[in-house]
This record gives sequence, structure tokens and C-alpha cells, in this order.
Amino acid sequence: MKWTLFLFIFILVSCAQLGLRGPAGKTPERHIVFDIDWTIVSEIKNPTPVILKNPRVIDVHGSYYFVNEGLEEFMADILSHPEIRISFYSGGKAVRNQELLSKIKLKNGKSLLEISYKVLGSDELVLVEALPGARFAERFKKDLTKISKDLDQLIMLDDTMNFVVDSSDNQNEHVFFIGKAFEYFENFKDAEGMSGEYIPHTYDEWFLNRKKLNVLNAVFKEAYAESVESGISFSEAMKKREVMLNLNDNEWNSYVSSYYKKFQNIKIPKTPGAEMECRHIAKLLMGR
Ligand SMILES: [Mg+2]
Repeated sequence: MKWTLFLFIFILVSCAQLGLRGPAGKTPERHIVFDIDWTIVSEIKNPTPVILKNPRVIDVHGSYYFVNEGLEEFMADILSHPEIRISFYSGGKAVRNQELLSKIKLKNGKSLLEISYKVLGSDELVLVEALPGARFAERFKKDLTKISKDLDQLIMLDDTMNFVVDSSDNQNEHVFFIGKAFEYFENFKDAEGMSGEYIPHTYDEWFLNRKKLNVLNAVFKEAYAESVESGISFSEAMKKREVMLNLNDNEWNSYVSSYYKKFQNIKIPKTPGAEMECRHIAKLLMGR
């Protein structure tokens, strides 16, 4: 009887280990970390009745947020790669973050909270030395090693520059700056005539703000394929595209336009042969 029990436990442990390694055992675990405010959602300060009827607007403890276009599709594309973990790292409070993420649902019915690897909030920010009167993001920093120690395989998308600790592991090299985000306007005409740092001044600026996650989705697909194919680190593959896009300018330069076109044209099938097809498409795109 004892031996039977021992054998049962042995098989159970062996299977669990196999499960952990899984079919992607040779593939390193990769991480994508999303900032929340102005990266995946845009807060709406004074929502009109029309805006409140928009199914993409969610109410989180009395604050209203527009769920940025293309978010669910982006998440689904990332999740088609089982070795990639999605986390969220925000300066917001934990309860707010969790409530917000629980209200954004993917097509499979799961919420972003359910599919997340880690959700870090204000409690996980690091207080650093700063001059008196310094802004929030100068006094508090995100520490990416709280998500994973292997930063080569980690990238965080954030609309705030230099929001990570200044450490010897050079965490800024693992942040993809997505450019300044504008306030939410249902249509560009609603912003016309207004002034302010976060008001889009042209239709193109408004449109890019609206389609940014689509562009980043295409960037991710290509960078992921290159990382798998060439062996360069995932963060390096992403960062070299950040430079080309230069999203800080809020301009549809040729790289931004081409990634948006790729997003519209490429649909990577989520079948067993998807990875091979993905590489093939990436080869075509890179002219190899
Ligand atoms: Mg932000």
C-alpha cells in the first residue's frame, strides 16, 4: 500500500514538472508589462451622456475610462504565445487597478485581471530621492525586477518617460515609450478649438492616439518573430523599433504608417502551425 502511494506521488510530481516545462520548455519565459492609465485606458473627466453610452467606457469606483481601441485584440495575440506573461504596473491603487482590469473582458470571457501574471500598483512603487516639488513620477519609480529578474525577456509599455528606477540593470532599456497620450475625444471635431498640453491639435494626432495600440500590436508581432528567429532578446527587438517609430512626435511617419498597415493586413492564425507561419510572415516583412 505504501509503495502504491509512493508511486502515485512520484507520477504526480513528474507530470507536474512536465506540465511546467510544457511544449515550450526550450523557449524562455517572456514578459510584457502594461502601464494602465493612458496606456490601456484613457480617463474621461467630464463624460457626456453620449460618451457614457459607449460600450468601451467603463465605470470604476465612479471614475470613467475609455478602454483604448485594439486592446482586447492585442492581448489575444500575446496570449497566443503560451510562454509570454502579461502583467500590469500602475501608479494607481491596488483596489482601483484590480477593479478596472476585472471590467475589461476578452472575447473568451476572461477579464484582464484573470489573464494577468502580476498586477502591481502604488504599493510596489519605489520612493526615490527627488527635488522638493518634484512630480509624482519623479518621486516614485517602478521596479521591473518585481515582475521578473530576467529583464532581457521583458518589455514594459508606458506613456510616462523615465518611470523606472535608475539602477545598475538599466531598466530604461526595457521600457518602450509609447509617446504622450491625449485626452479622450469621441471625434476630432470635439477637440477643435481647445487648447492644452493633452489636446490633439490635428486630425492625424487624434487618429494616431486612437490607433496606437493597433500600431503597437503589429510592432509586437514583428519583434516577437525576430526574437524567436534570430535569438536577440525580446526587449532588444522591441526597443530598436521604438527608436524608428518615435511616437513622442505623435506623427504618422513612414514606420508608424507601415506598422498600422501591417496590423490591418496580417492576421496570424492561432493554429498548431501558427509559429512557423508567423516566422514566414516576419521573413517576408523583413525582406529575407
Ligand atoms: Mg500612464
